[in-house]
Formats: sequence, structure tokens, C-alpha cells
Amino acid sequence: MSEDCIFCAIVDGDIPGRIVRETETTLAFLDANPLAPGHTLVIPKDHHARLDDLPDDVAADIFRDVHELVSRVEDAVDADATTVGINDGEAAGQEVPHVHAHIVPRFDGDGGHPIHAVAG
Ligand code: IMP
Repeated sequence: MSEDCIFCAIVDGDIPGRIVRETETTLAFLDANPLAPGHTLVIPKDHHARLDDLPDDVAADIFRDVHELVSRVEDAVDADATTVGINDGEAAGQEVPHVHAHIVPRFDGDGGHPIHAVAG
């Protein structure tokens, strides 16, 4: 855990999160400022700022969760497609320095380039 990390505070239950899925090593919850209904974040429970900091097994766990959640989230909000993305580093638009994968439901005709949709 890292002090002052908002995602660590969600993992610890110190601030509320709308939890979608929890495993021993990962947590998935709804984004507080969703780019689309159902916008979900998948994070490692342990604090790692950048992808390169992640142990291999945790990186695999995160992708397993993303893989399993895409269809669940699409079904939940009746989406047509999904953009999955990770802003890895400040210059890439990473605002919260705790690794997180975005699952952004997409809808026919919602416009926008997929990368721009994730970067915001
Ligand atoms: P980034 O720009 O890739 O770092 O994305 C950070 C994401 O975290 C943004 O989509 C924010 O809306 C989201 N976010 C920030 N604080 C919270 C929170 O407390 N709960 C849920 N999502 C959050």
C-alpha cells in the first residue's frame, strides 16, 4: 500500500468503490468519471505505479480479469464493442500512479478514435 494513493484506499476500503470483481491479487471497480456507462478499471491490489513494476504473475492476473470482464460489462450495458487501454506513465495520460486497465464500453456511432476515447 502507498499512502496518498486513491486506488490503494479503495483496496483497503478506506474510500468506497463500486466493486465489480475481486480476486486475491486484483480488484475491478467502476470508474468514478466514466467515459461510458460501465467504464471499469482493473488494478493490482498491491501498489505498482507502472506496468514495468508489475510482477509477471500479477500482470497475467490483470489481463485474465480484463479478458473475463469485457463480455460481462458489454452484456451489462448492452454495448456493441469495448476499448481496453492502459495509460502507462504521465506523458501517456496516466493520472493515478497505480497501474489500471480501462475497460470502456463502446456503442455504434459513439464516435471518437479508440485511443482518444481512453486517454480522455
Ligand atoms: P488515468 O488517466 O489512466 O490515470 O485514469 C484514471 C482514472 O481513474 C480516471 O478515469 C478517473 O475517472 C478514475 N478515478 C479517479 N479517482 C477515482 C476513484 O476514486 N474511484 C474510481 N475511479 C477513479
